[in-house]
Amino acid sequence: MKLFFRTVISCIIMTAILCCGCAGTGAGRAAQPEDGPGAEDGSEQQLSLTGQGAAGPWQSMDTAMGTVVQQTIYAEDQEAAEDFSRQASDLLSRLEREEISWRLDTSEVYRANASAGSGEGFDLSEDLSVLLEACKELWERSDGAFDATLGAVTRLWNIDSWAVEEDTNDFVPPSEEELKQALSTCGSQRMRLVREELTESGSAAESDLAAIASAPLREENGQAGGCRLYLPEGMRLDLGAVGKGFAMEKLFGLLEDSSDVTAAVISLGGSILTYGSKPDGEPWRVGIVNPFDTSGSIGTLTLAGQWCVSTSGDYERYVEADGVRYHHILDPKTGMPAASDVRGVTILMKDGLLSDGLSTACYILGPEKGMELAGQYGAEALFVMADGRIEMSEGMEPYFTENQNRK
Ligand code: AMP
Ligand code: MG
Repeated sequence: MKLFFRTVISCIIMTAILCCGCAGTGAGRAAQPEDGPGAEDGSEQQLSLTGQGAAGPWQSMDTAMGTVVQQTIYAEDQEAAEDFSRQASDLLSRLEREEISWRLDTSEVYRANASAGSGEGFDLSEDLSVLLEACKELWERSDGAFDATLGAVTRLWNIDSWAVEEDTNDFVPPSEEELKQALSTCGSQRMRLVREELTESGSAAESDLAAIASAPLREENGQAGGCRLYLPEGMRLDLGAVGKGFAMEKLFGLLEDSSDVTAAVISLGGSILTYGSKPDGEPWRVGIVNPFDTSGSIGTLTLAGQWCVSTSGDYERYVEADGVRYHHILDPKTGMPAASDVRGVTILMKDGLLSDGLSTACYILGPEKGMELAGQYGAEALFVMADGRIEMSEGMEPYFTENQNRK
């Protein structure tokens, strides 16, 4: 489904419309851009396309990577905005299909998983090399709280299906024995990455779009070649905790290459990027969803220029069975949903991939260790605690305004 329109409609309402039909599950979003036409009044009146100012913003809504994608684009004209929006959607589909999906046999992660236990290793593209190196470093720095090798356990929980199946009444959590067996295949210490010269396939680019998508994630990480990956028997990668962050980095590349686009806010489920400046010079406003009432916000981040905001929370994706609620952020020590006195964590930083990975890690670690970890990466962190308190790093304070009317 894809909609493209210039309209006065609240982003909150848009998301709510797309999320209906998720009865019994917690499919939702963790943050929303408050910017955009009509964000304040929430009415659904549609404006005519003719006679409007040229710069926009133009809004589009789509689904990709298993989540709702909302784009607010400031561009030369509607054609330029539509053109960008289409390219962004294509890019997201391509990233999922060719790189990070563990489900699709067309993807690199699928093939890497299939190579587990062969002993021969698997040649990774530069993209996936940088991504997995970052994941391994995050695993180390988070004391194992973040672990991209949890695939066997996440499949056991069948997390992906929670967002799409309407009837989850029959959900049965995995047994202790099943979890123990799946956990025995996990552990990033056993994922080996060996840097090599760039392979032919790693440098091939069939189109401009493919060239943008296959460019190194960050210039300073632009090493000469990809890695050879060695996974032990049974190990399965799950990049669900960094996929949207990875996509944000790629979207920045596309934005920089799209000279007709002057500014944008793009929301991918729990991750949002801001880019450029609005024509009126006003800052971006990004609302952080209230975990206790997901139709409202606990507060707003006021941001100028390029930022990444990622949120992880137990209300984003969950399933209920026999009165017990199971959420999607797993403790690698037990394979169970992490027991935490945190409801949601928001990370603010310039790097998309790390903001996404850090929000997941910080949910498990809690405020004390989480803020210490975020600090190591120069990131700011905000925790919404189970008792309703908000804890945040000092550097977050200038950006955050609490919603005084929150429930
Ligand atoms: P996020 O919504 O970004 O916090 O990511 C949650 C997703 O990451 C889950 O749906 C799983 O696919 C995966 N995941 C769950 N627990 C972990 C963990 N401890 N480390 C890394 N990935 C995880
Ligand atoms: Mg994450």
